[in-house]
Amino acid sequence: CGIVGYVGTAGACGKPLEVCLQGLRRLEYRGYDSAGVALVSPESDTVTVRRKAGRLSNLEDEIKRRPMPEATVAIGHTRWATNGAPTDINAHPHMSADGHVAIIHNGIIENASTLKMDLQSEGYVFSSGTDTEVAAKLLGKIANTIIEESGHPDLFEALRRMARMLTGAFTILAVDSRQPDIVVGARHDSPLVVGLGDGENFLGSDVAAFVAYTKEAMEVGQDRAVCIEGSKVTVTDFDGNVVTDSKRFTVDWD
Ligand code: GLU
Repeated sequence: CGIVGYVGTAGACGKPLEVCLQGLRRLEYRGYDSAGVALVSPESDTVTVRRKAGRLSNLEDEIKRRPMPEATVAIGHTRWATNGAPTDINAHPHMSADGHVAIIHNGIIENASTLKMDLQSEGYVFSSGTDTEVAAKLLGKIANTIIEESGHPDLFEALRRMARMLTGAFTILAVDSRQPDIVVGARHDSPLVVGLGDGENFLGSDVAAFVAYTKEAMEVGQDRAVCIEGSKVTVTDFDGNVVTDSKRFTVDWD
């Protein structure tokens, strides 16, 4: 229901987590039933996730109880449950089977049950009742296929391949512990906005996600994928063609 993502070039510090929690606080007006964050940290081989049903303060208390490592990139989510009850297990982010990839999602993936049956027949095990976990397992699988094919990770390409397989409405953000310098996103029938900073970039379901840090923004068009790095933003269609028609604007409120 609310989405935020952050990449900075300033090196590891507490900022990625701080930006996500601040963004989620500003997105509270949309309403939600659960909240969560995922970080990519040089200290860990997998993504680190904290998620809790209920108010944002529940998530903040959980992070105090189980502190998160220093991070390079982060994503945060507030959930409005559509598939699966509002519980800790169903809260986003959801992870790939090997823990390298984490995703957050707004919307409903209509063909999730078909995709889930295919993955289950290959041995994938699911712990939540969400459509989003199906996308998390599928993205992890595609990301590993790309590594086998090419010898190096390419989460941006993996997300595009998955986006072509999904029906329904989605804004999805993803991170991969093997690519600690990027956050990737894709959208179909659900909004996604880029926040343009100085040596840092942001993603949000709306500008509230990052307006505390930058007022320079760019709309991501329908059926587009985006990759943010600390000093670069790349937008493509789902086939991987770079597009340069994204509309830039300045947010005129604070
Ligand atoms: N369909 C997803 C779920 O139920 C995402 C809901 C949302 O947009 O927050 O977890």
